[in-house]
Amino acid sequence: MNTVQHFQIAADLHTHTVASTHGYSTVTEMAQAARETGVRLLGITDHGPAMPDAPHLWHFHNYKILPHEICGVQMLYGVEANIIDEFGHLDMDEQELSFCEWVIASYHTGCVQFDRTPALVSQGYRMVCENPLVDVIGHPTTVMFPFDDEPVLKCIREAGKLVELNESSLQWKKGALEQARVFYALCKKHEIPIVLNTDAHFAGLVGKTPISEQLLRDLDFPKRLIRNLDPDWVAETALKKRKLLSPH
Ligand SMILES: [Zn+2]
Ligand SMILES: [Zn+2]
Repeated sequence: MNTVQHFQIAADLHTHTVASTHGYSTVTEMAQAARETGVRLLGITDHGPAMPDAPHLWHFHNYKILPHEICGVQMLYGVEANIIDEFGHLDMDEQELSFCEWVIASYHTGCVQFDRTPALVSQGYRMVCENPLVDVIGHPTTVMFPFDDEPVLKCIREAGKLVELNESSLQWKKGALEQARVFYALCKKHEIPIVLNTDAHFAGLVGKTPISEQLLRDLDFPKRLIRNLDPDWVAETALKKRKLLSPH
């Protein structure tokens, strides 16, 4: 049995390109890699402007020139926006986000200045869930941003947002895997849908999720809760989100 394919994602909806200087591949290279790993829909989600090496806002404004299919892979063009405070504010306003088809909201150290207590981080997550333009809460297992798991998960579910399982965090962020064992067990317990993404900053990492795979197996996590394993959900999402991108 090919264990790597057990949780084969049909969409990788969190990736970065050379538009952020700590990303190392172009859009086309990322799409080629997606095709090679069986990913049908690729989300390009470079960092919002609060990240020190983020692209200029014109990067997002100009998404309209990019094709929705590259190398046979369907494309969505979005952003990983930064949650910049304990009130769930993002570093892009409504008009700027309107240029993006897919919006991840994430906390990053270096992009916030408040005292990161569980109460304040939880409040930030609860408030960002009220933003109708946000699709996904990014990598919530970053130990630098502790929060109250169950109340926040309840808010995420009630708001109809997705919560992310992020391969890159599990691989590179200290303590994230341990925290993830607890967090995704709670997602399973409360039937919270998740999306499994690589957060690849290099083409060779697109579509590959071995650490998450092992974690999901350990938790006996139900496949039906992992939205982007389902090609029908992926096709539906691609069509639905594209409609939001109007000509400017
Ligand atoms: Zn991030
Ligand atoms: Zn990212």
